[in-house]
Amino acid sequence: MSEENAQVCPICKVKIIKMVGGDRVLFSMGPPGTRATLWAKVCRFTDKPGCINRDAGVGG
Ligand SMILES: [Zn+2]
Repeated sequence: MSEENAQVCPICKVKIIKMVGGDRVLFSMGPPGTRATLWAKVCRFTDKPGCINRDAGVGG
């Protein structure tokens, strides 16, 4: 197992693992989710330039 494909959002401190068919997001607690979940739970509240998940919520 390698974590080469894992990124950690420096703002949200959430790990995102690149996967075929949709990235997996590992939260510090609770079950893993998707980028959309991460956006809904965390990133849309932080809304800072360093966040690596900003594109997931684009629209509007
Ligand atoms: Zn983030």
